[in-house]
Amino acid sequence: MATTVPVISGETRLVGIIGWPVAHSLSPAIHNAAFQALGLDWAYVPLPVRPERLAEAIEGLRALGFAGASVTIPHKQAVMPLLDQITPAAQAMGAVNTVAVREAGRLVGDNTDWVGFLASLEDAGFDPAGKRCAVIGAGGGARAVVYALAWAGGHPVVFNRTVERAARLVEDLRAIFPHVAFQVHPLERLGQIGQETALLVNATPLGMWPQIDGSPWPDDLPLPSHLTVCDIVYNPLETKLLRQARGAGATTISGLGMLVHQGAAAFRLWTGLEPPVDVMMEACHRALKEG
Ligand code: NAP
Repeated sequence: MATTVPVISGETRLVGIIGWPVAHSLSPAIHNAAFQALGLDWAYVPLPVRPERLAEAIEGLRALGFAGASVTIPHKQAVMPLLDQITPAAQAMGAVNTVAVREAGRLVGDNTDWVGFLASLEDAGFDPAGKRCAVIGAGGGARAVVYALAWAGGHPVVFNRTVERAARLVEDLRAIFPHVAFQVHPLERLGQIGQETALLVNATPLGMWPQIDGSPWPDDLPLPSHLTVCDIVYNPLETKLLRQARGAGATTISGLGMLVHQGAAAFRLWTGLEPPVDVMMEACHRALKEG
């Protein structure tokens, strides 16, 4: 089914996605489907912004009366000094993925990735509280995942190729969650996770299109069947890691839920309304298929 183009009126409230490039973003399809489902006179537009023009673009949100914007690669860090306020969560993750324009044009930067990740676990009926959770990666996505797990009372164990980067991530988050038992290991130790680990999360690009044959889990090692395995990569929807997990009889969670729920959290910030998550999920599936 083709996506319907929203009708733009003189009163239409605008939001959009600032990135470079943004042509392949699924967010316009997700948000415009939500606006239409609720009958809102809002529209979500792609805003391709070159890195050297980011400051002008952010100032432009104010001047053009935008309600807010999503922020994506490569601007998630660079946008921070351009805003009036950063939420503690975004501060902790060192990245902003959502800007809300408040009274008098005040720009507030937030990060909704961690909320999106937790909501995707909740959809699958997984509660991290008190459980050991292995996270592969120490980049931006991993930061959101580890923050979320710590916030929810889990015990994150971070495996990364560059162990120093994982140590830095954990050091930053220990300052915010002093009672959480974090651990850091080199990626080679991943195969040693045992019965005490309940969740395995891939937060590296391994397995992402077009390198779909990649997986952080070694081919020659059986994947423990008691695990819940989540891949935050959502293209393809079923990554090689998720195939390995399904083959082993483990429970799987795709990255689509995190993507849609982070968008749903941004929708809440901009509109103050409860987003139609099912509609957003369906629009995302459709947009991925149409590719
Ligand atoms: P990033 O900041 O560049 O971090 C990449 C991480 O992956 C680093 O820890 C890096 O290790 C590791 N890595 C990269 N290539 C590797 C390899 N060949 N072998 C082992 N480790 C490798 O990336 P990111 O922004 O966190 O994104 C990671 C993935 O998550 C992307 O596919 C992105 O699309 C996805 N994501 C999805 C969502 C969602 O909503 N579902 C949200 C955010 C991100 P080193 O530290 O050693 O370099």
